[in-house]
Amino acid sequence: MTGSAINLVNRPILASIHTQAFQHNLNRVRELAPESKIWAVIKARAYGHCFEAALQGLASTDGFALLDIEDAAWLRERGWKGRILLLEGLFHENELSRADDLGCDLVVHCETQLAWLESFKPKTHNSFNVFLKMNTGMNRLGFKPDSYRVAFHRLHAAGYRMHHMTHFANADQIDRQPTVDGQQEIFNSTISGLDGPTSLANSAAILWHRNALGDWVRPGIMLYGASPTGIHADIEHAQLQAVMHLHSEIIDIQELKQGDRIGYGGRYEAPQDMRVGVVACGYADGYPRHAKDGAPVWVNGADQNGKGLICPIVGRVSMDMLTIDLRNAPNAKIGSVVELWGDRVPVDVVAQNSDTIGYELLCAVAPRVPVAIK
Ligand SMILES: *Cc1c(COP(=O)(O)O)cnc(C)c1O
Repeated sequence: MTGSAINLVNRPILASIHTQAFQHNLNRVRELAPESKIWAVIKARAYGHCFEAALQGLASTDGFALLDIEDAAWLRERGWKGRILLLEGLFHENELSRADDLGCDLVVHCETQLAWLESFKPKTHNSFNVFLKMNTGMNRLGFKPDSYRVAFHRLHAAGYRMHHMTHFANADQIDRQPTVDGQQEIFNSTISGLDGPTSLANSAAILWHRNALGDWVRPGIMLYGASPTGIHADIEHAQLQAVMHLHSEIIDIQELKQGDRIGYGGRYEAPQDMRVGVVACGYADGYPRHAKDGAPVWVNGADQNGKGLICPIVGRVSMDMLTIDLRNAPNAKIGSVVELWGDRVPVDVVAQNSDTIGYELLCAVAPRVPVAIK
């Protein structure tokens, strides 16, 4: 990125989605799980990155996993011929023939969904691929182990192509191998003797619990270059790349006197005379209002040698703006490009400064922020 202005007619804010970073991260998943097929998880508008960018950047995946049947329909309209998994299955019985027409794979996680499938006669395709979900301890969705085998046999008898699936509750706790092992043992003993491919691992398991991958892995957050733990240092070894780069510009500069306060509530008091930059990005763009003083942003060309550098946020984030300390940034000026998060400021670092995780920030980028696919 050069020092030139973000080329937009309106406010200077832009989320750039780097499709090459998507490809790179998908390749990393392949290297970490070479024996498995990949469901690229793109729920929540591809974790805020937009479906179009995900389709372009992740086109070499084996399948896409998402929630809404309308999004599956969009993928088909855009020419996606690979597999699509509806991660929570169907929400209403009347979606069955649509799912059949679209050739979706279905998760079945409860008796209600199972009964819908038993009474359905697929017409377009000869049968659904079913990922039967087992609750091995997460206690959110899925059949308990003691009812799983019966559910499996009923769907199998109805002619569906069966797969086994579970989801880990603690795979992001890197040192808690025993709880992951425990869920995996329940899973393995329950499916013992039953045919069908398996699917267990989210990003955290792919990164840290690689004895638990299964035939289909389900990476989400790592495809976007962020950490399942919310801590950037935890994924440095995996060499993932940030896919979303959120940029804005400095739109004004304030000269403060020692003791002056900034913004709503006057949270920050200037310890000395100082310059403060006003950046066109606020919580209505998806930047976390809870960001603390010290949360980093990167300012292009700002230091005494004209190099980019990190400047800390000072004062509360407001709806459309945030304010940064320019004491170390003599070359920062109106129009300087600012990276809120991306490859210079990992989204997880912003998240840590705001008591959340990168997932939440990425998903919450507001619709008013324009997206550019690069
Ligand atoms: C969201 C989701 C994933 C992906 O999780 P990440 O932590 O983003 O890798 C995998 N499986 C299921 C069932 C999910 O809902």
